[in-house]
Amino acid sequence: MGERRAVDVLVVGLGPGGAAAAGRAAAAGARVLAIERKKRIGEPVQCAEFIPAPLGRWAQDAGVLRQPIEGMKSFLPSGASEQSPFPGLMVDRARFDRALARRAREAGAEILTGVRLTGLDACARTAVLRLADGTSATVTYRALIAADGPHSPVAHQAGLPALPVVHTRQYTVELLQPYADTDIWLSDEFPGGYGWLFPKGPVANLGIGADRHFEDDLKAPLDRLHARLVARGLVGGAILSRTGGAIPVGGMRARLVVDSILFVGDAAGLTHPITGAGIAAAVESGECAGRAAARFARSGEEAVLAGYDEDMRDQYGATLERAAARRRDLERHWRTPSAQDDRTMRRGWIAFPEYFAR
Ligand SMILES: Cc1cc2nc3c(=O)[nH]c(=O)nc-3n(C[C@H](O)[C@H](O)[C@H](O)COP(=O)(O)OP(=O)(O)OC[C@H]3O[C@@H](n4cnc5c(N)ncnc54)[C@H](O)[C@@H]3O)c2cc1C
Repeated sequence: MGERRAVDVLVVGLGPGGAAAAGRAAAAGARVLAIERKKRIGEPVQCAEFIPAPLGRWAQDAGVLRQPIEGMKSFLPSGASEQSPFPGLMVDRARFDRALARRAREAGAEILTGVRLTGLDACARTAVLRLADGTSATVTYRALIAADGPHSPVAHQAGLPALPVVHTRQYTVELLQPYADTDIWLSDEFPGGYGWLFPKGPVANLGIGADRHFEDDLKAPLDRLHARLVARGLVGGAILSRTGGAIPVGGMRARLVVDSILFVGDAAGLTHPITGAGIAAAVESGECAGRAAARFARSGEEAVLAGYDEDMRDQYGATLERAAARRRDLERHWRTPSAQDDRTMRRGWIAFPEYFAR
């Protein structure tokens, strides 16, 4: 790609946030370069693969949609459970991400895989990239979209704080009966997180999340949950694949725009601090940031960038603040007897009216 080059918009990371951003910016006429450090977009998958129904428009490509979901069953510490409507789709996340990237390419974005951002001078609007062949290149940009996930190397390079995260561990297991709900376990066994079983046709994603301040070992509690479901005859004993990853849980960054860098998705802290869901917010923020970056590249108007920050706060601020507040409430209970009280968990989970009470 040459040792030095200039683009309008540099997108770092091609998860759903980066691909949506690259597509929108290119469609708006910007010269877009989008880089992804993985060799193959979307792999390895680090996701439970549930998307809310409206995102189905991104799940039209062959092989992306795996099964519809009707409801959510939330299990409380006492064993009581509550069924709620929770329509959505289970997808093949790798194919989902690649479908988004394909659309970005079709819109005119240049997409490079196996390429990593290694350096950044935000004032000079210059990034250093390590290319797939091991050589380096320098890119100057008008706007940079940081769609580089929960640990955001761009944020680190720009001197911004790391986001607090919860750690997860997930097995894919055989599903022994057809299932159309997502199951959620709320318990002191998974402090700072929860357990989940998301069905995907003949298999299911079975995982847990936990806050390392309270629980360092995710394997033992996940193995116990797995053994319980095997005993119930719901899933098979074999582990077909394993994954995990970090989920930002601190809520939105204090600033989503720094110099001409726009943060989107996980890198922006838009992931829901209670549920850990972040695909929809990544796509939506990516689209918004892509539009704003293209306009800024054309006009140089700082107000366009400020408008992106404001739009995201209007759209996500209240929801994320409530979720972050509920997390803080729960932190007082983990590893104490009250964490095994159903009333505590009801206040801390989105399926219950108590969660939305003042
Ligand atoms: C186990 C697990 C289960 C989850 N389940 C769900 C779920 O069911 N539903 C849901 O909505 N959300 C779920 N999430 C959250 C969801 O996966 C994220 O919110 C979503 O991926 C955010 O998208 P993104 O584009 O912001 O970031 P990411 O998808 O993380 O993409 C960031 C990309 O940037 C790349 N990158 C990083 N650094 C560099 C660099 N220096 N140079 C170039 N590229 C770089 C990475 O390789 C990566 O591909 C889950 C998360 C985990 C860990």
